[in-house]
Amino acid sequence: MTLKKSMDIRNIAIIAHVDHGKTTLVDGILKATGQINQKEDRERVMDSMDLERERGITIRAKNASVFYQGNKINIIDTPGHADFGGEVERVLGMADCCLLLVDAVEGPMPQTRFVLDKSLRMGHRPILVINKIDRDFAAPDKVIDKVFDLFDELGATPEQMDFPIVYCSAKSGFASTELARAGKEDKDLLPLIDVIVKHVPVASGNADGALQMQVMNLDYDDYMGRVGIGRIFRGTIRKNQAVECAGEGGTKKGKITKILGFEGMDRIELQEAVAGDIVGITGLEELAIGDTIGAEGNVEMRAPIRVDEPTVSMF
Ligand code: GDP
Repeated sequence: MTLKKSMDIRNIAIIAHVDHGKTTLVDGILKATGQINQKEDRERVMDSMDLERERGITIRAKNASVFYQGNKINIIDTPGHADFGGEVERVLGMADCCLLLVDAVEGPMPQTRFVLDKSLRMGHRPILVINKIDRDFAAPDKVIDKVFDLFDELGATPEQMDFPIVYCSAKSGFASTELARAGKEDKDLLPLIDVIVKHVPVASGNADGALQMQVMNLDYDDYMGRVGIGRIFRGTIRKNQAVECAGEGGTKKGKITKILGFEGMDRIELQEAVAGDIVGITGLEELAIGDTIGAEGNVEMRAPIRVDEPTVSMF
């Protein structure tokens, strides 16, 4: 599939405490946008996720891309565990906004605080999604108060404090910006997608400029070898393109053999990808986190990225 240049790309990260419903929500969004219709599809996706887990690849386990009314929305999973080699920061750095998903009974948990803090420091303006409003003892107003307190404690700006709120039951598959309408007038998850499209800035970048992609994470595939995952900040990257990659380890020449994107949760091969998008690339075996990829002889390096420890443990 070739991504049309007219398609607006939006990159969001999901921040959630374990069990607050991230998997169910991503699943629901895929269904609502028509990316998954069949239960069998879902089972197949889960199978491939399990496979990836077995092989130790969890980086992209819950990543997905959905297509909705001329928009491509890249949903980026953030590691919930403590920061390892700056991974949380790097993953958040690919997004322009985050969904803060909070259970309507439990409220915000200490473990989400760490990731939210980093997101706020990056200048993201989060969207608050109160999930599980169908549960007994759901107390959305109390939870919202707690989230306000948390934002305040973390030093959020007035713009960040002015977050949109979406009331949601990922399990029942509905969302609304008004509690009274949720599950009644608003009976699907599309109001949440509308809020995302309205609130998350279009990933900017000149698709016709000189290529500039920065590698934010590494993955490894038995068949494809090293996969560099990153965001294209400028230009267009094409399959078979001769590129140069520059980083702290010097400059290396190579050829892009594959460009990997998502359709729903399925990994797909793209012929090209444009500025704003997040893709995986293969062909550059010596690629390192933080490297900038550009056209041969024309790499404008981006600022290096902090990596404390190796993040790829499967070698
Ligand atoms: P994750 O750990 O954040 O990915 O959470 P999951 O999506 O796996 O959900 C954890 C549990 O909460 C599962 O048993 C879900 O069925 C349940 N759950 C998720 N969303 C909702 C919801 O909106 N309402 C209710 N009642 N349960 C939900």
